[in-house]
Amino acid sequence: MQRDPNHPTILTVERVIDETPTVRTLVFTDKVMHDVLPGQFAMVWIPGVNELPMSVMISKDAGKAAFTVRRHGMASTGLFNVGVGGQIGVRGPYGNSFDLRAGRLLLVGGGTGLVPMMRLLTCIKTSDDVTVLIGAKSRDEVFFENLANDLLHENSHKVIVSTDDGSYGQKGFVTDIVERLLSQTRFDAVYVCGPEIMMYKTVQSAHSRNIFVQASLERMMKCGVGICGSCCIDADLACRDGTVFDGDHLSANKEFGHLHRNKAGILENY
Ligand SMILES: Cc1cc2nc3c(=O)[nH]c(=O)nc-3n(C[C@H](O)[C@H](O)[C@H](O)COP(=O)(O)OP(=O)(O)OC[C@H]3O[C@@H](n4cnc5c(N)ncnc54)[C@H](O)[C@@H]3O)c2cc1C
Repeated sequence: MQRDPNHPTILTVERVIDETPTVRTLVFTDKVMHDVLPGQFAMVWIPGVNELPMSVMISKDAGKAAFTVRRHGMASTGLFNVGVGGQIGVRGPYGNSFDLRAGRLLLVGGGTGLVPMMRLLTCIKTSDDVTVLIGAKSRDEVFFENLANDLLHENSHKVIVSTDDGSYGQKGFVTDIVERLLSQTRFDAVYVCGPEIMMYKTVQSAHSRNIFVQASLERMMKCGVGICGSCCIDADLACRDGTVFDGDHLSANKEFGHLHRNKAGILENY
């Protein structure tokens, strides 16, 4: 029987990987989540706590998938603390996916925004020339650097890490490095996921040079299926119309990078 994507499927966490002191990957078996497209997300129910939108992480094991969660408030801390044998409910997959171009590609991920970028890397052709830019606050918060190198071993590729405090890799904000890379090299496409202000600056840098760019937006989401309106951004609903949007579209969006909705649905400045 086909499963209803809008009904939570209960899954058991089989393995927990500590990526950093505040980031963990929870691995489980699920063919549906294993097969999601890069950019798609799931709604993850932490029983007794809340439900959160999460990008679906790849797993090296056949038929398995994962969530990579940063401990933050109550819900993400609840998910972070689900141990081996713990159960979660998963709805989805939801949302559209990245439009994969060929040639010289730049993938930019900040924090857990790297999760969709890792899935995107699994779809890239060996003939593509790929640069992955990983942004983190400090050395302690760098993860997926080895994974990105492993996934790209047959490509001509470069993995660049930047930390805000310079404790590892290149010092500075990831958006300054994007600007430098785009002024030095002609890329065919740029993909980005991370904090919205980082995506806003990356989209601006690429779009102003007429480079194809897509961003996967992480907005407040409660239903994930276009009903509640929590993720409304200008005329779009991030969950239903995205989460992946083109630079052309985002450049005309008056709220992108400027305004977001809080848990009560009230518009606030970034
Ligand atoms: C499509 C999508 C994919 C995401 N993927 C990941 C991922 O792979 N890993 C990861 O760690 N995080 C991911 N997030 C963010 C995650 O859903 C939560 O925002 C974050 O974990 C904080 O939740 P909290 O309730 O613990 O924090 P709280 O302290 O309750 O809230 C802190 C802030 O988190 C944000 N937030 C809280 N609830 C939600 C919600 N329901 N939807 C969106 N934002 C919310 C708000 O900005 C809020 O101000 C994703 C968000 C979206 C929309």
